[in-house]
Amino acid sequence: MPRKSPLSSRSTVIAGNWKMYKTIDEAKAFVETLAPLIEKSQATVYLAVPFTAIHATAQLVKALDAPIVIGAQNMNDATEGAFTGEIAARMLKDAGAQFVILGHSERRHIFNESNDFINKKVKRALEDAIQPILCIGETLTQREEGETEAVLREQLLGSLEGVSSDALLKMLVAYEPVWAIGTGKVAHPDDAQAAHAHVRGVLAENWGDEVANQIVIQYGGSVKPDNAADLLSKPDVDGLLVGGASLSADSFSKIINGSKA
Ligand code: PEP
Repeated sequence: MPRKSPLSSRSTVIAGNWKMYKTIDEAKAFVETLAPLIEKSQATVYLAVPFTAIHATAQLVKALDAPIVIGAQNMNDATEGAFTGEIAARMLKDAGAQFVILGHSERRHIFNESNDFINKKVKRALEDAIQPILCIGETLTQREEGETEAVLREQLLGSLEGVSSDALLKMLVAYEPVWAIGTGKVAHPDDAQAAHAHVRGVLAENWGDEVANQIVIQYGGSVKPDNAADLLSKPDVDGLLVGGASLSADSFSKIINGSKA
């Protein structure tokens, strides 16, 4: 059975988010193991590695001609300046990153990042030609109080304020319910589909149907090899953002190989 309408031009993008795991040597060994395992996959594979491993993994991917796109997990909104400990989009690009995860719930909740700050980062990333994956998602309390749709709308519109249709087409959005991240509690595929359809609807209302229909919307939150295909079988679930299960080449390759293009 086809995963989604054959009229859909959206490709499947499976992204790994390593968070604060893996040294340079561990990252390189992972890429060397993963590359042959996913050779036949039709999905586009992204890997968001720690800053320190971007250059080495980007070089290795190039040398191996491996079907893996290397990216980062965060950046600052400034081009450069006196911001101790921060990193700029152009530095990430220079190191070999092609995309950056922005607005991840760990950034929003642990580091208090606001929609306004995330919006500035999204605009900077687009301006400096690094592809943003914008993460949005509700907490358990917000879901239980029936606020999911309102929260997703607010995060989307706040983080994408002033972004043109052309720029939006260069981005990905990831729906990541906070209660599902790292908890082992994956969203039911029907709930994921409902949230994704809502997100696409908000995008359509504000940027038009044509743009909304082209945007890849990933699901993230406790994705594992045994639940990935069910999530991807839903028409508005175009890809996956995988945390814990992307740390092992075995489980990440099973998720990738279980998906269709
Ligand atoms: C994430 O970090 O974006 C994530 C979804 O983590 P996990 O897959 O471990 O829930």
